[in-house]
Amino acid sequence: MEERKGRRIIMFPVPFPGHFNPMIQLAGIFHHRGFSVTILHTSHNFPDPSRHPHFTFRAISHKKEGEGEDPLSRSETSGLDLVSFIRVLKQKYAEPFRETLAAEVGGGETVCCLVSDAIWGRNTEDAAKEVGLRRVVLRTGGAASFHAFAAFPLLRDKGYFSALDSRLDDPVIELSPLKVKDLPVIETNDPDELYRIITDMVEGVKSSSGVIWNTFQDLERDQIMDLSSNFHVPFFPIGPFHKHNNDLPPKTKNKEDNGITNWLDKQEPKSVVYASFGSLADIEEKDFLEIAWGLRNSKQSFLWVVRPGLVRGTEGLESLPCGFMDNIGHKGKIVKWANQLEVLAHPAVGVFWTHCGWNSTVESICEGVPMICTPCFTDQRVNARYITDVWRVGKVLERNIMDKGEIEQVVRSAIIDGGDGMRDRCLGFKEMAEKCLGKNGSSSNYLDKLVRHVLSFDS
Ligand code: UDP
Repeated sequence: MEERKGRRIIMFPVPFPGHFNPMIQLAGIFHHRGFSVTILHTSHNFPDPSRHPHFTFRAISHKKEGEGEDPLSRSETSGLDLVSFIRVLKQKYAEPFRETLAAEVGGGETVCCLVSDAIWGRNTEDAAKEVGLRRVVLRTGGAASFHAFAAFPLLRDKGYFSALDSRLDDPVIELSPLKVKDLPVIETNDPDELYRIITDMVEGVKSSSGVIWNTFQDLERDQIMDLSSNFHVPFFPIGPFHKHNNDLPPKTKNKEDNGITNWLDKQEPKSVVYASFGSLADIEEKDFLEIAWGLRNSKQSFLWVVRPGLVRGTEGLESLPCGFMDNIGHKGKIVKWANQLEVLAHPAVGVFWTHCGWNSTVESICEGVPMICTPCFTDQRVNARYITDVWRVGKVLERNIMDKGEIEQVVRSAIIDGGDGMRDRCLGFKEMAEKCLGKNGSSSNYLDKLVRHVLSFDS
């Protein structure tokens, strides 16, 4: 372990699991390289500091007299769609973040830099400048999807966002191999706000002192090269984060985790479909039922994460037909949340039915587990296109045509015959990821460069 004194980094994650998890993994990587880490956090999803004993957590709050401590009240966010929620987060935390950062930096110990999530955009830039701090950005998504985000002004000018349903299968010639239906948008009441959030993210990346990516060169070489020739900012593709040596303590297992492991231990190797749609996506009740019947009719074992909120307007499981689980017996297990890293690493898992969030995509590739792709919104659509058409480690099952017959057939083919070589190709990427992380691998080399880069800010 290197000397920790005078090597402090402040981090500012976006408070969703798909953003917080990679930021905490990155914190572990920096800690392992001798840095101390302070994490500034919003009240939304405030983490349990006892699970991360190496890091200091600070709640961001208003310091000014007469203002409430917590910038975010529940009533302001309930019922908002994701785009409006992010708008409120960015607005409400801009000033309190500035105050908290100033207090932290004024505390005496030298701070090397701020690492902020790209979604915060330029909000964090002025705050960092005011206290003389350099700002490095963490982009928690992949390089291919960022390419599409960076093209938003062009795509808008060319009318792609208003493309009619009949053009959804048309190619986007500027962003091959994407089709119109793959563009990283989301259903929202406020499409202009989505445009502002995305363009602010891209501008915030351009004006940063460096970008850290949870991807690796052998996976996204061309996309990383293309981006870095257009953005004159140093890039550090050091992923996959969760496979680095880091100082994160092993996750403590709860009763549900143990139940999952015990159940997986009883299944045949590569026989289980693990189905999970991440932490934010939701589905209609009718689609939920098609999935349930499709999984059952496939006669394959399945582990299915149905978190509260997954099925629109319900808690989830109450929509299942009476006696559904009895009928399945030991063939299927439904849980509210799983330790996904552990599940994917279990030898019983044969395929991951995923919404193609970037973390899920990288986590699956790193375990050599092929995917069934049902993207829901934003970058998930781009990821799914790369998974199926470029890396060829997955098959698509489109969300708008959930049909139990098709689900049954896709699931069976993915498990029984390894999906036309997708398992072998995925194992190939797993090996590449290991190589990138090994001695003189690209991710290890980029990490060395990153450490030198942030230390050079001092001088
Ligand atoms: N995750 C988990 N258990 C679950 C579902 C998700 O641990 O039951 C984790 C998963 O490992 C990943 C993150 O939550 O690190 C989800 O991020 P992703 O980018 O895949 O999707 P998002 O939730 O942002 O849509």
